[in-house]
Amino acid sequence: MRSSLIAGNWKMNGSLESVTALVDGIVAGDRGKAELAVCPPAVFLMKIGGMLADSGVALGAQNVCQYASGAYTGELAASMLSEAGCQYVIVGHSERRSIYGESDELVAARFNMAIEAGLQPILCVGETLEERQQEQTLAVVNRQIDAVLAVSGIEAFASAVIAYEPVWAIGTGQVATPEQAQAVHASIREKMSALNAEIADGLQILYGGSMNPGNAAELLSQPDIDGGLIGGASLKADDFLAIAQAV
Ligand code: PEP
Repeated sequence: MRSSLIAGNWKMNGSLESVTALVDGIVAGDRGKAELAVCPPAVFLMKIGGMLADSGVALGAQNVCQYASGAYTGELAASMLSEAGCQYVIVGHSERRSIYGESDELVAARFNMAIEAGLQPILCVGETLEERQQEQTLAVVNRQIDAVLAVSGIEAFASAVIAYEPVWAIGTGQVATPEQAQAVHASIREKMSALNAEIADGLQILYGGSMNPGNAAELLSQPDIDGGLIGGASLKADDFLAIAQAV
């Protein structure tokens, strides 16, 4: 039986004051049966890592450099994220792919660095609206996952998470139907199962894209949806916790 992970991606939002209040609210609240993680802006990781100690809420970063150390201005090494207390790191978020031009190969290299450093990557995959309309959804998701498999192999997914995030649903208020999401999640699990059934069975596959307290229960009740990667609704402790309670 897989546990469910509700992870908050705070993106580039908040101030020291607002993020500490948010952490206080999340730690103090009822999270139901869900595992929780928060992914704050990098500059707040050390502070929030300290606040989360012994809370049972995990810390994650929003990206990681593909290199171990050196002259890579603006980047963060996996070892630094570990030192800050991170368990997770998001890789391949659609905003990184579309705004910053991160290719499948670069995402795969970042994923691999996270694995080598003992972090659990949350690999984001998903299609644009145009790709969905052209019935390319599964081809796109498979291509994005294949790039990672080619570098890290199926074994890496024993300590990784996949987040299916249709690009057209991120930050738009337009959520995938439970049936649309389940179909993609089941296809991902089937693909992984063909390589290693045990790893596929234990793999947490999160849904992301305008998940909120109103639509979470139906999405999370799907057999292959093992939690959520939450953007906007993770910025309010009550909404984030309400999603967790929907597990
Ligand atoms: C995200 O950015 O990963 C995300 C799912 O955002 P939102 O929940 O705001 O759609």
